[in-house]
Amino acid sequence: QTIFYGVSDEPRDKYLGGLLAAGFDEDTCQSRYQSTMYRKPSPHKPSLYLLQKLRNYEQRHRRCAPYTAGYNSTLPFLNGGPAPEKETECKYVLWWPWSGLGNRILSLTSAFLYALLNDRVLLIDRGKDMSGLFCEPFPDTTWLLPPDFPITSFRFGGSDPLRYGALLSNKNISIDGTDGRPPPSLVYLHLPHYFDTDDMHFFCEPDQAVLKKVPWLLFSTNNYVVPGFFLNQEFEPELSRMFPEKETVFHHLGRYLFHPSNDVWGMITRYYRSYLAMARERVGIQIRVFSSKDAPFEVVSEQIINCTLKEGILPEVDGTTLTSGASAADPTKTKAVLITSLYSGYFEKLKDMYWEHPVAGGVTVSVHQPTHEERQQTDKESHDLKAWAEMYLLSLADVLVTSAQSTFGYVGQGLGGIRPWILVKPQKGMMPEPTCVREVSMEPCFHSPTTYICREKKNGDNANVVPFVTHCRDVSWGLKLV
Ligand code: GDP
Repeated sequence: QTIFYGVSDEPRDKYLGGLLAAGFDEDTCQSRYQSTMYRKPSPHKPSLYLLQKLRNYEQRHRRCAPYTAGYNSTLPFLNGGPAPEKETECKYVLWWPWSGLGNRILSLTSAFLYALLNDRVLLIDRGKDMSGLFCEPFPDTTWLLPPDFPITSFRFGGSDPLRYGALLSNKNISIDGTDGRPPPSLVYLHLPHYFDTDDMHFFCEPDQAVLKKVPWLLFSTNNYVVPGFFLNQEFEPELSRMFPEKETVFHHLGRYLFHPSNDVWGMITRYYRSYLAMARERVGIQIRVFSSKDAPFEVVSEQIINCTLKEGILPEVDGTTLTSGASAADPTKTKAVLITSLYSGYFEKLKDMYWEHPVAGGVTVSVHQPTHEERQQTDKESHDLKAWAEMYLLSLADVLVTSAQSTFGYVGQGLGGIRPWILVKPQKGMMPEPTCVREVSMEPCFHSPTTYICREKKNGDNANVVPFVTHCRDVSWGLKLV
């Protein structure tokens, strides 16, 4: 039985248990302090240690932000020459956007956690619309790289000589420190889904010891690489202090970092109040089809119905008759279903099912879908605003059903603190059995994980190294925190 929370006039927990700093200008980012008017309180409280790390981070960010003395004196090291003997006062992680919005949010969270762990400062390339989608997360400063930042194109490639894996394989970096050469002052961390074993050494302890000295690290991934940090024995004790509940990493950091801009917040709250707020229970169903050949419309729509009915998420209908009579409705049993999908067909089918047939148990079901954009149009601002609004709306649900392997769904589940049911990925047009499974944790999955086992110095399965990093249910080769 879910507890009903209506929209409140005042935030229920304005600073999210101390996660958010006080003192921001509330008008420039309404969502930051208003989210708990719409959201039910999270049962997961951030640790005091995490709060302390965040407050320290905020101070460091202000001290090292663009145009500060610390920043200005570190800029010359962007040339990639030898890193200075004595570490610079400010050290950076640079992030730039690529891939879909869900992937971006997860990779940016990974970059931020890396900065937290290593006393670095995270600066981001704003790309086409990052500043239109999100508020500034850190008080009295900016995370955006200034327009006059010397690196204008972040399209570093696998063949770049400053790529960490290339530095290793060409013996242009010394890991054990024996030959006395300093590392370069700019290193490109190449961690996309197609990285190689050399790049994977990034996650290992001796490599991190060397990278400590590098003032500028370019962090490039489309993945949620956080489980990889937990495999590192130097990082793990610190991470476990920050996150005693390991499955809450994205839940807390996502709520800390990603506040919808006022434009997006207006869309979220108008939609929520119009279509979702009145229902006693809100069910989010996120449908992502990666291949219509593997997952044809008929199979997926039946899969959704099978899963939601079997798991008791949605009520049964009497499919045998089209009755003209009215059935008794229980006003305490209203369900609003939010569907997000690039296509409208699944919505039509579910909506018609509950319109045309009598529903069991006096439940009233309403079905809603904000957009059907037909295809991914990343970097078009009007499209990305809606994608972000929809991920956020999913996170306001009580119950979630998401699609396997979709980072769009991970963002919704993580921000919401919800362990979803996952629609198993259909293969070759066949209905999967079971149609859906319950996720083991609300954390996102590291889809293309490192397969280099640092402590054994060989390739293998990192799901067998520590008990809190296991395979994902939706992507069998992926890694996730539990
Ligand atoms: P993933 O590919 O499912 O892991 O998620 P991403 O967010 O990284 O990339 C998919 C992109 O396609 C999204 O960012 C949107 O641009 C678009 N998209 C996919 N599904 C939806 C949807 O349900 N609603 C909207 N508005 N856009 C979607």
